[in-house]
Amino acid sequence: MHELGIVFHIAKKVESLAVENHVNHVAKVVLEIGEVSTVIPSYLEDCWKWKCTKSEILKDCQLEVEMIPAVTFCEDCEKTYGTVEHGKICPYCGSEHTYLVQGNEHAIREIVVYDEDCEENADAEAESEALEEIAHEDNGAMPIADETVAE
Ligand SMILES: [Zn+2]
Repeated sequence: MHELGIVFHIAKKVESLAVENHVNHVAKVVLEIGEVSTVIPSYLEDCWKWKCTKSEILKDCQLEVEMIPAVTFCEDCEKTYGTVEHGKICPYCGSEHTYLVQGNEHAIREIVVYDEDCEENADAEAESEALEEIAHEDNGAMPIADETVAE
């Protein structure tokens, strides 16, 4: 299923961004889905809900989908038109030399985080920096400490 692959891809990206920014929990992700992409939003939402049960960072994370209209550009008359209404033939000049400008994509538009989840991070940030220093000083000889060790 196509949607499942997209959900995995997006979840991975959101999770790594959250870790990078020391965010413990993501409240909502807003996705842009192109009108002529083969993604079915309701399938995508089902896959997302399942995926969120597997991740601490994404637990109960909402998914909002925004549809992006499909637009085609005509190389001959240099006009753009709605892909869904007119397909591959330019409605202005009848040319077939057209290509899709937008409408086939899926992209993360926005990642929403609660303020309280950010504040908690001050500690997490200090902790992970401390762990990094230990690892460098000991040149990797010492096993990386458990997260629970730091105070
Ligand atoms: Zn044209």
